[in-house]
Amino acid sequence: MMDSFRHQGLRKQLIEQLRLKGISNTTVLQAMESVPRHFFFDSSFLEFAYEDKPFPIGAGQTISQPYTVAFQTSLLDIHKGEKVLEIGTGSGYQACILAKMGAKVFTIERHKSLFDKTSKLLPALGFHSIKTFYGDGYKGLPAFAPFDRILITAAAPEVPDGLLDQLKVGGHMVIPVGASDLQTMTLIRKIALKEHETETHGTFRFVPMLKDKVK
Ligand code: SAH
Repeated sequence: MMDSFRHQGLRKQLIEQLRLKGISNTTVLQAMESVPRHFFFDSSFLEFAYEDKPFPIGAGQTISQPYTVAFQTSLLDIHKGEKVLEIGTGSGYQACILAKMGAKVFTIERHKSLFDKTSKLLPALGFHSIKTFYGDGYKGLPAFAPFDRILITAAAPEVPDGLLDQLKVGGHMVIPVGASDLQTMTLIRKIALKEHETETHGTFRFVPMLKDKVK
């Protein structure tokens, strides 16, 4: 796929919009400026890639709105070399933003069709270090735990205990919590083995985090 001057220009405008909407983390903005979001769209929908909106990616799922990606990534506060677990690979866009920022990314998707598509796309785009998994994010990845950061990109009815267990002491989890239409963006800091503090950051709308993988 091509990254034309036109796409680069549209991307610059999108980053400017995110700035105006209050995103100030320059590392996040730089990563989003360097990853062509239209690579994650089917070719017939390229013109939608630089609107600040979610968009369907198949299997009833969506690529998150750029503002939401910027907001969650800023809250996550990642540093180079950190191990990050993402639940909800979807298009793979968020995973690439994390990888661009130097994270070691592990990402899980429960839809086989999305997993198949994205696990081929990411290396083709040059993101060879992202490890993709087909499975149920509620279970996390015990074999690769503990993680410095855990990011959930689907609406969780509550904070999954199993995932908190896979977070390092000192680690952060960013998770939209709520079963209804709107979820509360929640930042969890694990301060001891069985102790964490919780901070809330406004409301967002995500597709649901569902149990078990599907074909
Ligand atoms: N981060 C994605 C956003 C995709 S939307 C992107 O950048 O495009 C959320 C994704 O979470 C969907 O693809 C959905 O299938 C997936 N999902 C929902 N529940 C899940 C679970 N329990 N385990 C893994 N993935 C899940």
